[in-house]
Amino acid sequence: MAAHVDALVAATRNIALPPDRRATLDHYIERLQRGHATPPRCPCQGYRGDPSQLGGTLRITGRVTHAGWSEMRVTCDACARSFQVTEDVGYHVPQYDWRAL
Ligand SMILES: [Zn+2]
Repeated sequence: MAAHVDALVAATRNIALPPDRRATLDHYIERLQRGHATPPRCPCQGYRGDPSQLGGTLRITGRVTHAGWSEMRVTCDACARSFQVTEDVGYHVPQYDWRAL
């Protein structure tokens, strides 16, 4: 990964960009250099079940409960992605609908 980041820095260093795009690029390069890049196979990417059942990777940061269903705000501690998850308990097995935020 480090070699790829070095290559990215070298390839983009002298490209003329508007200041806002340079700032965005620098921000992402800095994240890569600090190792905050999204893990390519983060468990949250394939999981679409009950967020409380994924072994501590997912953290429920908010929940609004309605009659028969609820909405949860979920954050992945591994990659910092956030999701809105709707839980519908009106079936024999609860149904979950995930939406990336
Ligand atoms: Zn994740």
